[in-house]
Amino acid sequence: MKRIIVLGATGSIGTNALEVIRNAGEKFKVVALSGYKNHKLLLEQIREFAPEYVAVGTEEGYKEIKAEFPNMKIFLGEEGLRELAMLKDYDILLSAVSGAVGIEATVEGIKNSKRIALANKETMVAAGSYINRLLGEYPKAEIIPVDSEHSAIFQSLLGGKKKEVEKIIITASGGTFRGKKKEELKKVKVEDALRHPNWSMGKKITIDSSSLVNKGLEVIEAHELFGVDYDHIDVLVHPQSVIHSMVQFNDKSVIAQLGVPDMKLPIQYAFTYPKRAANTIFEALDFIKVSTLTFERVDDETFRGVELAYKAGKAGKSMPAVFNAANEVAVELFMKGKIGFLVIYEIIEESMDRHELVEIDSVETVKRVDKETRNWVYSKYGKCKGEK
Ligand code: NDP
Ligand code: MG
Repeated sequence: MKRIIVLGATGSIGTNALEVIRNAGEKFKVVALSGYKNHKLLLEQIREFAPEYVAVGTEEGYKEIKAEFPNMKIFLGEEGLRELAMLKDYDILLSAVSGAVGIEATVEGIKNSKRIALANKETMVAAGSYINRLLGEYPKAEIIPVDSEHSAIFQSLLGGKKKEVEKIIITASGGTFRGKKKEELKKVKVEDALRHPNWSMGKKITIDSSSLVNKGLEVIEAHELFGVDYDHIDVLVHPQSVIHSMVQFNDKSVIAQLGVPDMKLPIQYAFTYPKRAANTIFEALDFIKVSTLTFERVDDETFRGVELAYKAGKAGKSMPAVFNAANEVAVELFMKGKIGFLVIYEIIEESMDRHELVEIDSVETVKRVDKETRNWVYSKYGKCKGEK
């Protein structure tokens, strides 16, 4: 039996992970759960999965959980994520909080020599070089990607040797606004950006998919996870989201992973790797129903998320952390109706242009760069009213 900690249990990945665990019977045991604002759902999850430890973001949540489970160890606030990761008696840390707030927990999980099932891509983007150095220091620790593209690449890479890899091809659905041009995007609303054609996900990542910043984050994530340089990572729009990503080897063989677009698959694989486990949750891919697979280039003119990410990634050092932090605040401001959709790109670009690169040598440096970037974006754009 594998003992699992689920960080971000109340989110989209978290609830999918709990469904995987529920369906696996005796294979997995939930040791700890974290939620932030949604303590009502967290309470239901505690009743069902009986964890030994919990972390919650609000005092109200803390009190309600304590009242019902007086003997449970409960951590309050973001610090709780780190505390959970530092526990000894577990096998897998699923990192599925949203945003750079997940970095420290992943770091502690690595120092604890555990398996990290990593959904929280912001960690790998903002702190990738540091995380990789740490993985070298703690050889028993490992990161198994949960992000569907990276799980696909991870699985495809099993088909050859590292030195035989010619390129990684990351597929993208193209997001909600595929085919639209700048003029139309100026006026789009939050509700429009939240309507994803293929995947059901948390709000932040759904906006990121619409702007293609998500794909940009994934390019940097792939570079950090698999050590492939940016000139050998391509992005290809594939609206059906059936091929989750591919690896081209030096003999020009392309190995891909396909499946229905359901995050329970990569989550389960990150738990069971190197084994696979029977999947009784959903049906297999029906090729006849899918019938056609199509491919397009990214429209970089309109959707600048990928191009800006390559720029950040190639600059290296602290630039990806700036790319990520600027985007996190930009998405928050867009969701609050303070800026128009296309301003997300302006904010990222301006933040990067004014940034002076520093080496990412510790979590403290990542946090400082992250905070400086956020403060600057808030100071310039936080008071905007609507379109800019
Ligand atoms: P959600 O917004 O659905 O869930 C986020 C989770 O993090 C919730 O449990 C939330 O708690 C918790 N949380 C939010 N803010 C904080 C905070 N400051 N401190 C502690 N916990 C916090 O996100 P998703 O599940 O969609 O995404 C999670 C991660 O996985 C992201 O990094 C995303 O990029 C990545 N990912 C997601 C995919 C998907 O299909 N959803 C696919 C691939 C990657 P609460 O709700 O209780 O406030
Ligand atoms: Mg993805």
